[in-house]
Amino acid sequence: MADDISKRIARFIEPFRVTPGMNVKLERDFDPGFKAGIEKKKDGAHFMAEGIELLTEYQERLAAQDTWGVLVVLQALDAAGKDGTIRHVMSGVNPQGVRVESFKVPSARELGQDFLRRYQKRLPSRGEIGIFNRSHYEEVLVVRVHPENLVRQNLPAETREDHVWARRYEAINDWERYLSENGFRIVKLFLNLSREEQRVRFLRRIDLPDHNWKFSSHDVEERQFWDAYQDAFSEMFSHTSTEWAPWYVIPADRKWFARLAAGAVIAHTLIQLDPQYPRLGDDALDDLQQAKLRLEAEAPSGAAADPFEQGG
Ligand code: AMP
Ligand code: MG
Repeated sequence: MADDISKRIARFIEPFRVTPGMNVKLERDFDPGFKAGIEKKKDGAHFMAEGIELLTEYQERLAAQDTWGVLVVLQALDAAGKDGTIRHVMSGVNPQGVRVESFKVPSARELGQDFLRRYQKRLPSRGEIGIFNRSHYEEVLVVRVHPENLVRQNLPAETREDHVWARRYEAINDWERYLSENGFRIVKLFLNLSREEQRVRFLRRIDLPDHNWKFSSHDVEERQFWDAYQDAFSEMFSHTSTEWAPWYVIPADRKWFARLAAGAVIAHTLIQLDPQYPRLGDDALDDLQQAKLRLEAEAPSGAAADPFEQGG
């Protein structure tokens, strides 16, 4: 039965995966409105509930062992639904095992360090799921679309001028490979929103008073760079989807579908890792039996020596 679900999940997420080496053109290759034949939110609800249940169980197992950690990288343009996706997908998991790290404009101190440093500092430990809400990929996205960001990083002239993006892709791939060879699985999700759906969501933020706080006029200015971002994303996918850390492009024009798909990719990763509850060795089992005898000997008169044992 569990096998059946894991096969279904694997099949469901296949169209979102960026094949390593593929030359991606976002608008041509990925449709933000794709629904995988699921017509309505309610038709996907059962699958979503199943996925959340799986995540809950696997996260518990992940937290119990101390070999593997998982890093979820979440990238998107404004209003694509990063926050809501985190909230929904992680709704069933124990907050103690999950850490969300959001990355904003870098501080002066961070600008004085190599570009991967601030991301390195906030990685998950073994047993944890770390979620990067924005990530090291901003270093080849916003920094590329607005090159004044790169100027602020004060790189030596020769490393800034030639092939700086190609070198960053390589540095990122190497870093992710290093992490994956040390027990950290990396799940990279891009929430793919259409230009028209972004327009509608911005208007919604303006028109609904409870949503006003989410609106920033900066986001509308950033929208003017839509094409530059699409190109930066396309090139980034072409160069940084690897066997050890592939990208998944999640159709995001429908929030319910994006959440379902994002949850499925994370569940798939955990199913592959298959973390196990630790089993005690013989010495530790002997210790347990010794402790049991001592506790049983302390039972007051009239109480069962061990209420969990038949006839105890
Ligand atoms: P938000 O996620 O909406 O709170 O916005 C965070 C802002 O930080 C966005 O406008 C990002 O473009 C910006 N940001 C994130 N990482 C970087 C970076 N490495 N360099 C420059 N700006 C960044
Ligand atoms: Mg924003």
